[in-house]
Amino acid sequence: MPYRPVIGLEIHAELHTQTKMFCACKNDAEETRPNVNICPVCMAHPGTLPVMNKKAVEHVLRVGTAVGGMLATQFTEFDRKNYFYPDIPKGYQISQYKYPLVSGGILAGVEITRIHLEEDTATSKHNKGDYSLIDYNRAGVPLMELVTEPVIADAETAMRFAKELQLLLRYLGASEANMEKGQMRVEANISVYKEGDDRLSGTKVEVKNLNSFRVVGKAIAHEIERQITVIERGEKVVQETRGWDENKGETFSQRKKESSHDYRYFPDPDLPKLDISEITEFATFVLPELPWQKRERYAREYGIKAEDIESYVTDTILGAYFERIADILEGDTQAVLLASNYITSDIIGLMQVSDGDILSRITPESLASLVGMVAGGEVSSRGAKDILKVMSERGGDPRMIASEHNLFQKSDTEALGVIVDDVIAGNTQAVLEYRAGKIASLQFLIGQGMKASKGSANPSVLKELFEEKLK
Ligand code: ADP
Ligand code: MG
Ligand code: ZN
Repeated sequence: MPYRPVIGLEIHAELHTQTKMFCACKNDAEETRPNVNICPVCMAHPGTLPVMNKKAVEHVLRVGTAVGGMLATQFTEFDRKNYFYPDIPKGYQISQYKYPLVSGGILAGVEITRIHLEEDTATSKHNKGDYSLIDYNRAGVPLMELVTEPVIADAETAMRFAKELQLLLRYLGASEANMEKGQMRVEANISVYKEGDDRLSGTKVEVKNLNSFRVVGKAIAHEIERQITVIERGEKVVQETRGWDENKGETFSQRKKESSHDYRYFPDPDLPKLDISEITEFATFVLPELPWQKRERYAREYGIKAEDIESYVTDTILGAYFERIADILEGDTQAVLLASNYITSDIIGLMQVSDGDILSRITPESLASLVGMVAGGEVSSRGAKDILKVMSERGGDPRMIASEHNLFQKSDTEALGVIVDDVIAGNTQAVLEYRAGKIASLQFLIGQGMKASKGSANPSVLKELFEEKLK
């Protein structure tokens, strides 16, 4: 196609700290009573002074370290971004402009421009009639902003980047990053370039208020189409900020975009310039295993499917459960693969339908033992499902359950031999066909044997017996 979309993201995340960015008020996203976590500092009373939250600085530096960015070890500072709005009581937002905490880095294959620290705004409620309400609990909560380079070519990649960032923030304990709760907020800058025509194309539009991954994908895809349509009409795309209308499934114009000089950024004189080495032991950060490291290790150590790996990387409790089982089954690659199949299909399925803690009822030991029983032909896969069901309801040992419910497969050649003889005697037609070379007839005979044993026979033992007796 002659059009090339260019996308750059700006993502905000509320950081996980005890207190706000510049005062001792609680940073509590769960607080529902309005205006209880406020003080003279975050309410911008004259004469108050901000005091920096070291934990928030460290969170950003750890994120920067994880993505391989350059940390501002020598010098960093906070700036005032000046604008008026009721949700910003000081008349400016403390942010970072020229000297962000982190520069560069890469995540999910996308280059990062910068990661800086700022403070969140209050929340406004406009749905009250002819007045608005403002809740200042969120004013001054530490907010991380990550800006990517304009290097993303499609909505899918943008969505993948946002998901990977959410995962990273959770692994690092830096943020809950729940998009529906507004703890992570994605803005997408989108332009479309038409080959050989820079007259109409290449204007950047910012789309805001994307509050789920699904919406990020839909809004970007829609905005690309909209811009192409505008250019096709021979018009120029207007540089502006647009919102997302979920009901109509389209972006809509909100305001003409201001540029950075409108904000009159300048260094905040109330805050010290930072030499980070003086406030934090950043050089000795010990990061946990990161999502991409976990993916790589699961592939290398266990050779399981990419989808299974993704289930464990996103649900780390499930991942730890799988690892425990793999430890117990140590070295038995086939059994580990089988265990992983049971976890990602049956166990996840059971977790969705049953109440209570399935993973503690079906302990790693008992699932490992069940997998051993299936691999050894002691129970059929059908039987294993029944055993799992019982375990998910009341726990218990799979061997006990198997014998209680008569689910052990009979592999005893003497007992099964009697059944096989009976089946051969009663199905002369199929026997003749099989002897004449019709392989399907063997399946039929095995089926009859299974039926005669009420499903308890081990089908591979039956098969061997038929083959031998009909040789
Ligand atoms: P501004 O000064 O308008 O905020 P920046 O250059 O700082 O613009 O970029 C802000 C965001 O816009 C970044 O995420 C960047 O990747 C993105 N961006 C920049 N240029 C383009 C473009 N031509 N098309 C799409 N996104 C872009
Ligand atoms: Mg911005
Ligand atoms: Zn406060």
